[in-house]
Amino acid sequence: MENRTREYWAQRAQAAKCHHRAFIDGSFRDTGGAELYSKESPIDGRVLAEFPVGSAEDVDSAVASARLAFDDGRWGHQSATVRQAALLRLADLVEANAEELAILDVLEVGKPVRDAISIDLPLSLGVLRYCASATDKILGTVTPADSRTLAITVRSPRGVVGAIVGWNFPLVLAIQKMAPALAMGNTIVLKPSELSSSSALRLAELAVEAGIPPGVFNVLPGLGRTVGARLASHPDVDLLTFTGSSATGKKIMEAAASNMKRLLLECGGKSANIVCEDCPDLDAVADGVMGRMFWNQGQVCTAGTRLIVAESVSRELVKRIADRAIRVRAGDPLDGATAFGAIVSRPQMDKVLGYIHSGTQDGASLVVGGRRVREDSGGYFVEPTVFENVRADMKIAREEIFGPVLSVMTFKTVAEAIALANATSYGLSATVWTRSAEVTQKMIAGLRAGEIAINTVSNPSPGAMFGAMPLEPHKQSGFGVESGMEGLQTYTALKAVQIHA
Ligand code: NAD
Repeated sequence: MENRTREYWAQRAQAAKCHHRAFIDGSFRDTGGAELYSKESPIDGRVLAEFPVGSAEDVDSAVASARLAFDDGRWGHQSATVRQAALLRLADLVEANAEELAILDVLEVGKPVRDAISIDLPLSLGVLRYCASATDKILGTVTPADSRTLAITVRSPRGVVGAIVGWNFPLVLAIQKMAPALAMGNTIVLKPSELSSSSALRLAELAVEAGIPPGVFNVLPGLGRTVGARLASHPDVDLLTFTGSSATGKKIMEAAASNMKRLLLECGGKSANIVCEDCPDLDAVADGVMGRMFWNQGQVCTAGTRLIVAESVSRELVKRIADRAIRVRAGDPLDGATAFGAIVSRPQMDKVLGYIHSGTQDGASLVVGGRRVREDSGGYFVEPTVFENVRADMKIAREEIFGPVLSVMTFKTVAEAIALANATSYGLSATVWTRSAEVTQKMIAGLRAGEIAINTVSNPSPGAMFGAMPLEPHKQSGFGVESGMEGLQTYTALKAVQIHA
C-alpha cells in the first residue's frame, strides 16, 4: 500500500461513499431531528454532507433493538467459541476492506492516508483480534468454603452498552468500544462523532456480513446534544462507555445518574514528557518528543504536550526539536508521502490558533510555527508549534489544546519535575527519559498518570498497539479501565454464587 500514488487515493476518495444513516437491527435507516448538520471537509473546506442531527426517538429505537437482541440471547447465549469466530471473521473483513475504511477516516478527519493505513488499521485489527481471542479467557473464581458449599464468582455480560466516542481515531475508537462489549456477550448502541461517522457505520454493516446477528451492534450518528444526551440518560442502557473531552464526560456523569448506569470515561489529557539531565541520547529523545507530540497533528489524548526538561539540557534539546519541527510540512492527506495532515474542523483550528495567541499574550516565547498554513486549499492546517519559557499557570500549560502545540518548561530537581507534571487537572499519561533507576522509581511513585513510559514513547507501543495493556485514567482524565483483560472485565457484571449441596 506504501506505493499508492496521490491519484490512486484521490480516485478512491472520489468513489468513497460516506454514510450518515443509522444502522439499527441490521439495516440502514433514516434518522430524525428537525435540523440538518453540515459536515465540512478538513482537507478543502467544502461541504461533504448534510444529515439530520438525530432525535431521542432514534435512540429509543436503537436501544430497543439492542435490548431485544440481548434479552433473546441471540448473541450472549452463543458459546464463547461461536462469538470468537464471528469477531475474527469481522477482523478479516475489516482487513479486506482496509483501504475503504481508511479513506473514509481520511476524508472526514483529514489525517494522512499513510497513518490511517499504517497505524489506525493495524491498531483496530489488533484490538479486535485481542478481544475476540478473549471471549473464553475471562474467568471466575472459587473461594474455599465448607464441604457442602461451592462458593464461586461468575462474570456475566452487563446487558445493553451505550458507547459515545470522539473523532480523532474514528475506526479505532469504534472498535475499542464494540469489540470488548461484544466479546463479553453484550449488545451495543454506538454513537460516533458527528464529524466522523462513516467508518463506524460501515463497520456495523461488515459485522452483519461476519455473522453477528442484527440488533447486536447498532450505530447511531447524530449530535451530542440530541443523540448523545439521550443515550447517556436512557433508562434501558446498563453501561455507558465514553471517549471524549472531560467537559462532556462530566455532562455524561450527570445524565447517567438517572438509572445509575455503570460508567467508563476515557477523557482528555495534558501529558508530561519529562527529560532528565541523564537522559539517553538527545537525538533519540528529540525524535521521541516529536512523535509523541505531533502525531495525528497533536490530536491525541495522550499527546506529550508539556515538555518538562532539565535546565541543563533544555537549550540543546529545544534546538534539536525546533530543527525537526521546522522541517515538518503540513501536506495533502491524500498524498501517501504526507506525514502531517489537517486539523479536523474549522472550530477546532480556530481553537488551536486561539491557544497559540494566548501563549504569546501570556509571555511564552514562540520558537517555531504558530500559523495557519495551506490556506489556499481551503482546508484547516496549522504548522507544528513550539513555545518555550512557559509557566505552569499559563493556559497553554494547563488546558488541553488538542492540536500541534508543544509547551516547554524547565526544572532543577526531580521533585520539581514531578510537581510540574502533576500541576494540571488531567492524569492520563506521562513519559520520562532518564538512565537512573532511582529517578525511575521516584517518577513511577510520584506521577499521577494512568500510563507511564520510561525511555520510550508509550503510545503506540507494541503492547498498547494491540489492546493488551490496560489503561485507567487518573484525575479528570476519567475513570474505569479500558483495554487488556481488566478492560474486558469492565464489560461484565460480577455475581457471587453459593451452591449448597
Ligand atoms: P467531545 O467531548 O466534544 O465529543 C465526544 C463525543 O461526545 C461526540 O460523539 C459528541 O457528539 C458527544 N457529545 C457531545 N456533547 C454531548 C452530550 N452533552 N451528551 C452526550 N454526548 C455528547 O470530544 P471530541 O472533541 O469529539 O474528542 C476530543 C476529546 O476526546 C479530547 O479531549 C481527547 O483527549 C479525548 N480523547 C480521549 C481518549 C482517551 O482514551 N482518554 C481518546 C481519544 C480522545
